[in-house]
Amino acid sequence: MYPERSILSFFVHRARKYNSPMYPSIFLDRDGVLIENRSDYVRDWSQVKIIPEAIHALCLAPIKKYKVVIVTNQSVVGRGLILLKTAQEINQRLINLIRDHGGQIDGIYMCPHKPEDGCSCRKPLPGLLLEAAKDLSLDLQRSWMIGDAWSDVQAGEAAGMRGTILLRTGRGAEQLRQARLETMRSNLVFDNLPLAFEAILSIDDNPAIRSKS
Ligand SMILES: [Zn+2]
Repeated sequence: MYPERSILSFFVHRARKYNSPMYPSIFLDRDGVLIENRSDYVRDWSQVKIIPEAIHALCLAPIKKYKVVIVTNQSVVGRGLILLKTAQEINQRLINLIRDHGGQIDGIYMCPHKPEDGCSCRKPLPGLLLEAAKDLSLDLQRSWMIGDAWSDVQAGEAAGMRGTILLRTGRGAEQLRQARLETMRSNLVFDNLPLAFEAILSIDDNPAIRSKS
């Protein structure tokens, strides 16, 4: 028989666990960061071209102290060009491939809507990031968003993340030629994912660097 008090403390413990964000995390966009972008959308696994350096970077030991979550806009579904099931299969195969290489992915969140649907999950809105944070108990104030578009940076900022990074891979170079919103705080831009990870590790290990910038 269990004393009543320990049952109560069990529930108190669980309530604390679910209320408090615990894990620092790194959010990654999919197309242009982990796999090559296609202007006519990735519609089938046969069209997936991975970016090898990005996949290798996910295997680095220091990255494993973060939860790693993919957040991807796939309006290709909402436009009726592929089935939701096909998009989910592509995501699952990508996760399997990363895991087979020894890399880590803790979750993948996808917005299947078209821009004109007015959903709250399509980046630059932070819906996907907030949902992941709730599901996986992520501490957004200790988390990072990395993408190849300003909409990724905006989503990360809207979610109140510690930092956001724009990569020059994928659409990044073209995005950099466009003006970004003046309200954006981020000024971190890197050539590739390994360099972005290196910067995150160095900033998180030396808080003084961040406060100087
Ligand atoms: Zn959406």
